[in-house]
Amino acid sequence: MSEWRDIAKTEIHLHLEGAAPPDFIRQLAGEKKIDLSGVFDAAGNYKWVDFVDFLNTYERACEVLKAPEDFKRLVEAVLAESASHGVVYTELFLAPDFCGGGDLIAWKEYLAAMSEGAIAAKAAFGIEARFIATCVRHLGADQAKITSKVAAETASGLLTGWGMGGDEAFGAAADFTYAFEQAAESGLGITSHAGEVCGPDSVRDTLDNLPVSRIGHGVRSVDDPDLVRRLIENDIVLEVNPGSNISLSLFKNLKEHPISALRDAGVKITVSTDDPPYFHTDMTAEYTNLHQELGWEVKDFNAINQTAMQAAFCDDATRKTLLKKFEGA
Ligand SMILES: [Zn+2]
Repeated sequence: MSEWRDIAKTEIHLHLEGAAPPDFIRQLAGEKKIDLSGVFDAAGNYKWVDFVDFLNTYERACEVLKAPEDFKRLVEAVLAESASHGVVYTELFLAPDFCGGGDLIAWKEYLAAMSEGAIAAKAAFGIEARFIATCVRHLGADQAKITSKVAAETASGLLTGWGMGGDEAFGAAADFTYAFEQAAESGLGITSHAGEVCGPDSVRDTLDNLPVSRIGHGVRSVDDPDLVRRLIENDIVLEVNPGSNISLSLFKNLKEHPISALRDAGVKITVSTDDPPYFHTDMTAEYTNLHQELGWEVKDFNAINQTAMQAAFCDDATRKTLLKKFEGA
């Protein structure tokens, strides 16, 4: 139903490299004469069979991304794709570790290039974008401090958020408090992945030790009623990615996914795609599936988009303008 493509959408959990359209990666590989055999299936999609294989494919596809200009083009390609699915506001996770390795001068060049890409995409497609710099949990707390320092020193313009991805099971949240406080003090909005692969304890550990207003995924919180109450009381917003969760076999299907249970309990939830081409999803598919399988209607989507805009890491003027798109129904 084209209605679900055209309806205005927000997305606040999207990894830049993980959103790279396969055609874009193939094009860049061709230009650079990089061999990517085995990365794509016969239909041209990313090929992987399990989580380890997914990480391998992801890493190989990322090999073509080197110079700031590559990342500028990637931002444009990803935002063009998002806009084609009705997304009017999006937040992209960027990884400074892979854009200069923590060197401030190099990172500034990458950030400037990616900002140019976002400005060009806004001019072409009307899509508004902000960036969330992320550390990689399994690279450890010392690297996270370096990464949050470069993020804090460049916190302006389109860079408005800080977060953490990577292996949830690695270390304790408290190891990363310094990095998160450093980012928060610079005015960046704060989120962190938790409660995806690991259970409710990982969400509690995050809330206890990191100054987050949002949690990436957090869906495992559903197993702990006390934690659900805490999420509601503390106004924590969950960046839920149903297609990603199902693709990685966290839940068998949408009917068994806790998104409705969390929402009905009063938790603030939103819907995003995480790494869409890898998980064979996009925002149109997410909305279509939520409508077809869980009966969500326009008013339900407007509600989650209002939640996302209220929780968005953007200035209030932008927030106010975009909130108008999700009124009615
Ligand atoms: Zn994610």
